[in-house]
Amino acid sequence: MKMLRDATLGLVERKVLKTGTILAVRQWTPSSFLELDLHLPGLDMSKWDYTVHIKCRVAPLTYRDYTAAGWDAETHTCTLYIDAAHEGPGSLWARSVEVGDCFSYVHISRTTGSPLPFAQVVCLGDGSSLGHFLALRQLKPGSSTFSGALLLSEKQHRDSFDAFFQMPIEPLAYTDNGAGCLEKWLSGKGLYEDPETVFYLAGNARLVHRLRKTLRANGVERPRIHAQGFWG
Ligand SMILES: Cc1cc2nc3c(=O)[nH]c(=O)nc-3n(C[C@H](O)[C@H](O)[C@H](O)COP(=O)(O)OP(=O)(O)OC[C@H]3O[C@@H](n4cnc5c(N)ncnc54)[C@H](O)[C@@H]3O)c2cc1C
Repeated sequence: MKMLRDATLGLVERKVLKTGTILAVRQWTPSSFLELDLHLPGLDMSKWDYTVHIKCRVAPLTYRDYTAAGWDAETHTCTLYIDAAHEGPGSLWARSVEVGDCFSYVHISRTTGSPLPFAQVVCLGDGSSLGHFLALRQLKPGSSTFSGALLLSEKQHRDSFDAFFQMPIEPLAYTDNGAGCLEKWLSGKGLYEDPETVFYLAGNARLVHRLRKTLRANGVERPRIHAQGFWG
């Protein structure tokens, strides 16, 4: 019965899936964090004035969402940043793909929390949210300032982040209590009270939930908080 169901679903899957090609794979050191360049032919990226995520097929009948961090509409290419330090089908897929591989995806959707014309954008999250924050940086109005903090457990990843991106997002060590590190980073900066500051929270769902509560407890109004749990 299960075999029949899987065969039927496999047929349906083949009908709805679209395909792309892996153009490049860049492993950070250690290799548990990866960048994948994708070629998605025929896809019109010129209208992406919001953040998007791609529902990738990572195993038979198994899908995971990854954020398009940067894209070039002319060449139909974009880059994913994947935190693959844990064991899961998405991690295994990201660690196994090679240059030239074909991959499948179901669809591309708009992610909530696309940039708004606020004067100050503050991003807080973990490694899985790096792509989301890079997309926000690409999309933010030129007049906005951009800052924040990102939890990365590996020291070498934090060093690479500083060296590659040179962006005003501070990489922080991921201790047991990641939310506490981000709350400490926030305290004393006077961001809660500033009506022109908007907060983007992404990554682990519990982390995002707790940060959201902290912001609300400190008087940050709901419209100034864009929160999205990615996993956990
Ligand atoms: C809108 C959206 C956008 C997303 N964009 C990205 C992105 O750009 N990059 C990215 O890396 N992920 C992103 N994610 C998360 C991604 O879709 C997967 O949920 C995640 O990678 C885990 O998939 P998995 O199959 O590897 O592990 P799962 O099978 O889902 O989980 C296996 C185990 O690993 C734990 N786990 C899962 N993810 C992590 C992690 N990052 N760190 C530590 N432990 C983890 C889980 O809690 C669980 O215990 C996004 C999710 C959403 C909803």
